[in-house]
Amino acid sequence: MTVAYIGIGSNLGNKGGNCLKAIELIRQGGLTVSRVSSLYETAPWGIKNQPRFINMAVEIKTGLPPGELLALLKTIEKKMGRKKSMRWGPRRIDLDILLYGDLTVRDDALTIPHPHMHEREFVLEPLSEIAPEAVHPVLHKKVSALFAERRGEGRPE
Ligand code: ADP
Ligand code: MG
Repeated sequence: MTVAYIGIGSNLGNKGGNCLKAIELIRQGGLTVSRVSSLYETAPWGIKNQPRFINMAVEIKTGLPPGELLALLKTIEKKMGRKKSMRWGPRRIDLDILLYGDLTVRDDALTIPHPHMHEREFVLEPLSEIAPEAVHPVLHKKVSALFAERRGEGRPE
């Protein structure tokens, strides 16, 4: 079993409800959800002219290899009615693999750790609530330290 962290975001419809529904579907997909963060309301990133987001992070324990975990998350996004839209644009649900044990993956379909996690306060804040001691395997820093570096800095353009 590997301990992994999933970032969850929604900025369309019932945003908090969408995030909680995604967690239910993650459980139904056979993953053990061992920690769940609070819900955080955050300003949009990348494309600013869109509704605010609700963001959360969850800890899971899984025997699925990373590619299969990504496939499951994409199935859940689809089931919840996520349409193909622009990168960083509005979405009912977004499920990202943030960390997968201390593994690093870099291929066309999947990069772990998530390539933007260390620069996004909206990822680091919920993640540091549930996993302050988790270590980023490329930057070799704790999540709590990454959050402290980003905290209050606002969002990069
Ligand atoms: P974003 O989350 O950056 O707004 P999308 O959710 O549209 O973008 O994801 C685009 C693609 O990113 C996915 O189809 C997936 O193949 C790829 N991807 C690469 N690394 C990851 C990761 N760690 N977690 C989730 N998706 C990833
Ligand atoms: Mg995504």
